[in-house]
Amino acid sequence: MVSERERDDLRAMMPDLLRERCGVTDLRRSFKCPSPGHDDSDPSAHYYEDGHTVHCFGCGRTWDVFSLVGELDGIDSFPEQARAVAEAVGYRLDETPEARASRPRPKPRPRPLFDEPREAGAQDVFEQCGRAFGDLYAPGNEVGRRYLRYRGLDDVDAAKWALGFVRDPRSIMRQFSVSELESLGFITIPFFTDSTFSRVNYVMVRTISRGKVRNKEWRPKGVASPLWNEWMLRESLPVVYVTEGLIDAMALSKFTGKPTMALGGVANAKRFSQVLYHTPAGKRPGKVVVCMDCDEEGRKATGRMCRDLVKIGVVHAVLPEYPGGAKDADEWLMRTKGEKWDFEEYEGSIPGFGPLYRTRWRDDG
Ligand SMILES: [Zn+2]
Repeated sequence: MVSERERDDLRAMMPDLLRERCGVTDLRRSFKCPSPGHDDSDPSAHYYEDGHTVHCFGCGRTWDVFSLVGELDGIDSFPEQARAVAEAVGYRLDETPEARASRPRPKPRPRPLFDEPREAGAQDVFEQCGRAFGDLYAPGNEVGRRYLRYRGLDDVDAAKWALGFVRDPRSIMRQFSVSELESLGFITIPFFTDSTFSRVNYVMVRTISRGKVRNKEWRPKGVASPLWNEWMLRESLPVVYVTEGLIDAMALSKFTGKPTMALGGVANAKRFSQVLYHTPAGKRPGKVVVCMDCDEEGRKATGRMCRDLVKIGVVHAVLPEYPGGAKDADEWLMRTKGEKWDFEEYEGSIPGFGPLYRTRWRDDG
C-alpha cells in the first residue's frame, strides 16, 4: 500500500521525474510536451510549482507525477504508477517515516566546474528566415542591402549567413516585441542549430534607420540566447575564432576565411565556457582564437575567457589589436574600404534585382 504521506512526497517530486524521465533541467522555461502522442515541435509544456503539475498548451492536457508516468509507460493502475515514479526518482516506498529520517541523505553531487548551459532557442523558424532572405532582394527593400554594404558586407556574405530583411520582426519570430517607429526595416540574422544548416531556433534583428545608424540590436523576448554559430564548438574544427558581435564575426571571417562564431555580447562569455566544458574533448575545436573588442569591457572578457580555456584545457590565442586603432573587426573592415578592398559588381546581375556586389581585395591587402 502507498501511504498518504508517500503519495504527497512523490507528488512533490515532479522536478526529479521530469529530469530523470524527460531530460528537462530548466523548469523556468517551457519544454517539449512529455506526451508521446503529441509531436510538439515548439516547447509548449510548463511546470507549475504550486500543484507540482505539468500543463501542455499544445494539447491542453495536465499531469501530476502519477498520470505523467502512466502516460510515459502506458500504465493505468495507481500502485504501479507510484512504484514507477518512486523508481525513477530514487524514492524508497514502504519505509517508516522514522527509518526515512534516520537514513543518511545522499551526498549532493559535486558542482561541476561549469554549469550545464541553459537550453537556448525556441521553435524552428528556418522557413521564415528563407523568406526574409528572399525579401532582401524584393523591389522596395533595397535599403537592407544598402545597410549591409555600409557595414562592409556584400551579397556573398548575405547568402553565406542567410541574412534577410523584414519590416515586422514578428513575421520571423513571434517572440519579438519591437517598437521602433523610425525604422525602415530590419536585417535578420539567423542562428543555425548545427552544421547541416537545416534548423534555425533563434534570430537576432538589427534596426535600419534613416540618417544616423543607431546599430540597435533586438532579440526575441523570453527566449534564452544561444551563441551565434555555437555549433562550431562541437565539430572538432582545427580552429575557431570567436568575436563579441555578430557583424564582427562576419567581417572577421571575410579576411581570415576561418570558422568564426560570436558571443553576441560579453555577458555570454559564461555560456561559451559552459558549452565548451560540456562538449566531449574530441569534439571541441583544436584551438580557439579570442577576438573581443578593443575596449575595457572586451579586454576584461578576454582575460576571463582565457582563464576558462586554460581550466577546460583548450589551446587558445588572442587576436592582436587591429592596426589603426579600430575597436572591432567590422570597424576595421569599414575603415579599410577603398584602401584594402572595394565592392565590385558581379557580371551578369540577375534582371530585376539590380546589381549584385562582391568584395574585391587589393593585391597588397
Ligand atoms: Zn502536449
